[in-house]
Amino acid sequence: MQSTLRRTWAEIDLDALKYNYTKIREYIGNGVKFLGVVKADAYGHGAVRVAEVLQHSGADYLAVSSIDEAMELRIGGITMPILILGHTPKEQVDRLICFHITQAVTCEAKAEEYSEAAVKYGGSLKIHIKVDTGMSRLGYICEGDYFEHGVDGIVHSMSLPGLETEGVFTHFAVADEPGEDNLAYTQHQFELFTRVIREVEEKSGKKFAIRHCANTGATVDHKEMHLDMVRPGLLLYGYGEFAHKLGLKPVMALKTVVSTIKIYPANTKISYGGIYETTDRTRIGVVPYGYADGFMRCLSNRYSLMTEEGPAPVRGKICMDMCMIDLTGKDEVGVDSEIEIFGPHNPLENMAEMAGTIPYELTCAVSKRVPRIYIENGEITSTELMLRI
Ligand SMILES: *Cc1c(COP(=O)(O)O)cnc(C)c1O
Repeated sequence: MQSTLRRTWAEIDLDALKYNYTKIREYIGNGVKFLGVVKADAYGHGAVRVAEVLQHSGADYLAVSSIDEAMELRIGGITMPILILGHTPKEQVDRLICFHITQAVTCEAKAEEYSEAAVKYGGSLKIHIKVDTGMSRLGYICEGDYFEHGVDGIVHSMSLPGLETEGVFTHFAVADEPGEDNLAYTQHQFELFTRVIREVEEKSGKKFAIRHCANTGATVDHKEMHLDMVRPGLLLYGYGEFAHKLGLKPVMALKTVVSTIKIYPANTKISYGGIYETTDRTRIGVVPYGYADGFMRCLSNRYSLMTEEGPAPVRGKICMDMCMIDLTGKDEVGVDSEIEIFGPHNPLENMAEMAGTIPYELTCAVSKRVPRIYIENGEITSTELMLRI
């Protein structure tokens, strides 16, 4: 176990997570519920451990993308409400009911299927109605000419036996993007969402207990859009400009070690394809971190890993299991020296920008052979090796 951990590992700072939750809670106030988005293994941070912290800290709801993710939480001892944002096949409705899992309902056809399955099972399925206000992904289409049809579909769905409507939600497409046009688009989505809610509540004579739409961007920039509950993901993990605005802390630091040091003369080609050639005597460190660990290959020859003596540029192509870094002039860095891939000294946001992507993709890409080390009250409290050994 010890030697395995000295390969590449992710340190998950649960103190930072608690801190972020507390800061966001302060920011939204006590009148607004908090749903923590923990889909995709909590954006790579470990869904059960993150959910434990949120449950303990007083969060109100969790969201995942599938029933398997929801079951992982239930089996892991999480008892708080869980909403599945994505599709669940109707054959699984009995399990949803049995394990008290809330399901998003995204169209009339699915509402009918779920209703039928719930009645057959003899139970009641808790649902949140999803409205498509401009994301053009899941949800009852309510834009323009579809308004009446969308509203009627929702009203009808809510009247079906075996379904208990608790909430209604929509998802913003550009709430985290800057600029006037994006602001207008988000405001339009919000306005349409509230109009749909008004109309549905009037026609059905029922009130939604939980109305929610605020992702990370809207949680921070649009307090008027918090409604009954906010639904941030990235913000909670402390990355990106919105986290920065609230002074939040990054939860994950990805680290590795130098496994081998080699000295090469000038004119030596390094790694596959020989895209890098030394110009001088060069001290190269081989690092056990490659694209199978989540290092995007497009960062070959571009990104720098952080050593105790500053940034060490990646030389040549990133391989599946390794990469090479230039340690020339960094004499204190030797075999077994610790290297920060991203973290407090090498911000994830820089890596994302250089890779032409977003922080989400990079934490999700940290693969299962990278052990997660959990830190609580400043101490390592557990290590999780996700390989089945
Ligand atoms: C992923 C997701 C979120 C969280 O988005 P962030 O940008 O991470 O805050 C919220 N709502 C839905 C429907 C999502 O799929």
